[in-house]
Amino acid sequence: MQILRLLFLVLIPAPYIAAQNAGTSFDTGTVEKTIRFLAADEMKGRAVFSPEIDKAADFIAASFKKSGLQPLQGNSFLQPFTVYSAAFRGLMARADQKELPKDNVIVITGQPVLEVTEKSGYNIRSINAGSSLFHEASEAVNNGGNNIVLVDESFAPDFKRLILFKRNFLKRAGSTIFILGKPALQTYTIKASHVIKEHRLANVAGLLPGRSRKDEYVIFSAHYDHIGIGKPVNGDSVYNGANDDASGTTAVMMLAGHFAALKNNERSIIFVAFTAEESGGFGSQYFSMQLNPSQIAAMLNIEMIGTDSKWGKNSAYITGFEKSSLGGILQKNLTGTGFEFHPDPYPDQHLFYRSDNATLAKLGVPAHTISTSKMDNEPNYHQPGDAVETLDLANMTEIIRSIGISAGSIIAGKETPSRVKDE
Ligand SMILES: [Zn+2]
Repeated sequence: MQILRLLFLVLIPAPYIAAQNAGTSFDTGTVEKTIRFLAADEMKGRAVFSPEIDKAADFIAASFKKSGLQPLQGNSFLQPFTVYSAAFRGLMARADQKELPKDNVIVITGQPVLEVTEKSGYNIRSINAGSSLFHEASEAVNNGGNNIVLVDESFAPDFKRLILFKRNFLKRAGSTIFILGKPALQTYTIKASHVIKEHRLANVAGLLPGRSRKDEYVIFSAHYDHIGIGKPVNGDSVYNGANDDASGTTAVMMLAGHFAALKNNERSIIFVAFTAEESGGFGSQYFSMQLNPSQIAAMLNIEMIGTDSKWGKNSAYITGFEKSSLGGILQKNLTGTGFEFHPDPYPDQHLFYRSDNATLAKLGVPAHTISTSKMDNEPNYHQPGDAVETLDLANMTEIIRSIGISAGSIIAGKETPSRVKDE
C-alpha cells in the first residue's frame, strides 16, 4: 500500500500534487486505519490509568511527529500532569460540645491532615431544600475557598454521594466540609485525615508555528480517552468509543497532517488530544491552565463526528453557536462547498458546557465543539456498540475536510471571532 502510493505520487504531474495540498489530502483509507487502531478491541476502551490509553497516546504522538509538528512544550508531545485522589482514613467532628454523627460529615480536602475550628475563618453557607445539590456542592468545592456547607435534611438520601468529590482532582486550593443538617456551630472542631494519592495522566499536544502571528493560536482538539471495560451487552464488554471520541481524535491527527503539509498558516496552530474527558475534563482543564487565553483566537473542539447528523450527510453542528461569531465565520467559509454547519439543535442539553471547550470558553475564548451526534437518538452512545462498524467513515472524512476549510480565514489571520461573553 505504502509503496503503491509513493509510485503514484512520483508519476502524477506537479499541479495535481499542489491541488492535493490545497485541501484534498484527506482520504477515507487513512481515516479508517487511524480510527480502527484507536477503537480496536485490543485498546480496551482507552480508560484512564490503563496501559492501553498510554498506547493510544504514543500512537497520536508518533503521528504528530511524522506530520512534522513540534511538541507544544519541552521535547515530548506528551503533556504530563498529576491528578490526586483522597482516600478517607478518619474523622472527628464536634459542634457545640456534641459529637456529630460521622455519616453526616463529608470532608473534601487535598490535605492529608485537616483541622478546622470556628477560628479557622471558614465561610459557612447552605444548600437549601429545592436547590440543585450537586451543582451547588460542585460550586463550593471548586471555588477555591474554605467552606462549611450545611446541607438541608431533604438531601439525606443523596448526601453520601458527595464523596465523589474525593475522587480525582487537579489541585485543591481550599477545603470544603459538608454537614447534613443545621447545627448551630458557635464552637466546633473538625479533624479529618486522608491518604492523598497521585496519578499520572497525559494530553498529547503538538504545535505548528505560524508564519507571521506566532503568538496567536488556533486550537484543534478532541479527547482520546473513553470509558474502558464495562457491563457486557450481548457478550461484549469493550466500550470501544469509536465515535466518542476516537472520531474527533482521528480528525485532529488528519488536520495536523494537512496543515503541516501546507505550512502556510499565519497564526500558530495547536493540535491536542485530551485525556480524562470522561472522568471530569481534567485533561482540557490542565491544558487550558498552561495557556494565556487572550492569545487564543479560536478553539475548534471535535466530539463525535462519526455518525450522520440529524440533517443527514454533509452537515454538522456547533455548540454555543450564538455565544461568539466563530460559528458564523465557519459557516461562511463553507459557502459553495455543499457542506453546512448548523447551530446546536439540542440547546436543552447544554452541550456547550459539557465538553473540553468549556474551560477556555469560560475564560472568554471562542471555543466551541463541532459534532454530528444525535443527542436524542444515538443508540450506541456510551455502549459497547460504539464501534467503527457503526460509523459512516466517508462522511466523517468530508466533515474533517470541511472543518479544515471552515477555519481557513482564521488560520490565515484574516478574521478573528468575537470573544465568548461572561455569563
Ligand atoms: Zn466524548
